[in-house]
Amino acid sequence: MDERWRKWVPPLLVEEVFDDQVVWLPGGRMVTAPRFTWPPEQIERFRAGYRCINCLEPQEHAWPERCSLCRYPMRSRQAEFFAREFGGEKLLARRDWAEELGGLDERRRKEEERARNHGQQRRRLRRRGAV
Ligand SMILES: [Zn+2]
Repeated sequence: MDERWRKWVPPLLVEEVFDDQVVWLPGGRMVTAPRFTWPPEQIERFRAGYRCINCLEPQEHAWPERCSLCRYPMRSRQAEFFAREFGGEKLLARRDWAEELGGLDERRRKEEERARNHGQQRRRLRRRGAV
């Protein structure tokens, strides 16, 4: 059985955009709509109804009545959602994604290391009764 449709392909990039989609929650917390950047073949899957635009779940068949995961009414709503939200194609050819994603990994490693060091420092201080 061909299960390739099930394969989860992550977005190339997820950015927070601070524009008119910003929503303020009671208590002053701000939520933004993330902007996803997808490889072209994944954009086609959203456009063709093979992937839920609401929760990003791949679908076995195009345009199910509702998403198999989040129950989003794909058949009646997704085409309109896509038309409204699709931001167009960007030329990413000049960006070296491997290098860029490697850079993100590197940054995450450093942040984890910093967090670890910070934790150790706190534990040391606590042992000494300083915190
Ligand atoms: Zn869904």
